[in-house]
This record gives sequence, C-alpha cells and structure tokens, in this order.
Amino acid sequence: MGQEIDDVKREVAIGTRLLAEFGLATGILASLGHVSMRVPNDPELFVVKGRGYPLDALAVMRPEQMVVVDMDGNLVDGPRDAWQCNEVKMHSCILRERPDISSVTHVHPRFSIIMGILGIKMQAMCNEGQQLTRAGIPVFPHSRLILGEEDGMGVVKAMGDSAAVMLRGHGAATAGHSVENSVMTMLQLEEQARQNYYAYSMMGPDYKGIPDADQDEFAAGQRNMREQPHLKGPIAASRLQPGGPGQPGGVWAYYSQKVSADL
Ligand SMILES: [Zn+2]
Repeated sequence: MGQEIDDVKREVAIGTRLLAEFGLATGILASLGHVSMRVPNDPELFVVKGRGYPLDALAVMRPEQMVVVDMDGNLVDGPRDAWQCNEVKMHSCILRERPDISSVTHVHPRFSIIMGILGIKMQAMCNEGQQLTRAGIPVFPHSRLILGEEDGMGVVKAMGDSAAVMLRGHGAATAGHSVENSVMTMLQLEEQARQNYYAYSMMGPDYKGIPDADQDEFAAGQRNMREQPHLKGPIAASRLQPGGPGQPGGVWAYYSQKVSADL
C-alpha cells in the first residue's frame, strides 16, 4: 500500500488525537470515538482507529496503530492484536453510501448528547457551526451501539445528506470531505450544543438564537471578505488564501502541530 496509506494513517491518527485535545473525548470518554478516512487511490478501503491496544486512549494513538477496513466493515490490515473499532459499521455504511464523503467522525460529546436527549431544537448561538443549526440536525432515535449493518444503515438513513446526525443518548456522527472537515464539524456541533445548553439554562425554553437575517449577513461577509477595498490587494498578494472551511494556519493547523510533536 505504500506511502499513501502511511500518509492516511498519520492524518487519521492526528484527527483522533485532536478529538481528545478538543475535549470531545476526555475523562470517562477518553477511549471512546474514532475518525475514518477513505484511501484516495483505493476508495473501497478506509483507515480508522481500532481496538485491542495495550493503551487505548484517543490522545496517544499512533499512525502505525490505525487499521485498514473495507466497505463492509471487514478488517483488511492492521497491527497485531488490533481489531476494527466496535462501531465500524457507522463508518463503512456512511462511506459506502455517500461516495462524496471521505471522512466520518464519531464521538460521545457531552452537550450534544444532553440536548439530543432533552429533544431541544438547537438554534444558532454563535457563528461557528451556524450552518448546522440552520439546516437542522437529524436524530437517530436510539442509544444502542451501532454494531450491525442494519443499524449502520439506520444512521445513514437518518443522516440523509446532512453533515451531522445526533445519536440520541449516545453521541453524534459527522461526515466531511476530509478529516479536518469531519472533525471540525463535530467541534462546531458541540460548540453550538454547549451555547444552547447555557442559553436554555439561563432563559428556559423561550431563549432566542441569532436571527436568520444576521446569520445571512455573517455568511455574506465571509464570501465578500476578499472584495473589501482595503483587504483585496493584500489578500490577493498573499500565498495563504482564505476560504474553505477553515483559516490557513488557524485552529486546525495550530492544534495539529500541538498534538503531533512525537509523530
Ligand atoms: Zn459510540
């Protein structure tokens, strides 16, 4: 498999570590969750964190510990004693049924779970992740583990073409075109859930989120940033162009560097 698979394993390991770094898999959740990435030149295979490690914590996962799996969730390759993560069907079913998607993230984020159990429709409470609350976040209405094909397909069906789905009383899954995209979407989902929880706690069920018109203005501002007369020239001259889901050298780059010093 060569260099490409090694690069994918490294990316998946860094994404997995970031789930702990971002607080999405800490404390009692320290060994729960996984990120997957489709192998670009072998799209019927993907790489994901497994199980069966002497020390099984997301914060310390290494590239060589990642496992290679096919679109039915079967183990193709991996280190001795390791098997694919127990909920591998969540990844295999989403990646198989959505060829446009290259990465899936699953964790048990605290505030998202609370909001899902309470059945409170989340509103945009901050700019980060407002596209998720605006679109509405679908719910898979069971808390059991996603072990078999039937439940894997149940998650796919509940998710539809959304970027995120809540697994009621269990966690959430996000899908993206890259590891960065699926992990950052999960971080945004949890940020919105946290802010919604705070607002609900303070104001009760009648709390108000950011109005749709304000959200539209924010989105327009992002699109139009490079058209501002005072920004246009310097941005065009820069080797680091803004755009896409993140900011060049921003959150992802900073935290990736922070967690990969020993890799
Ligand atoms: Zn789970």
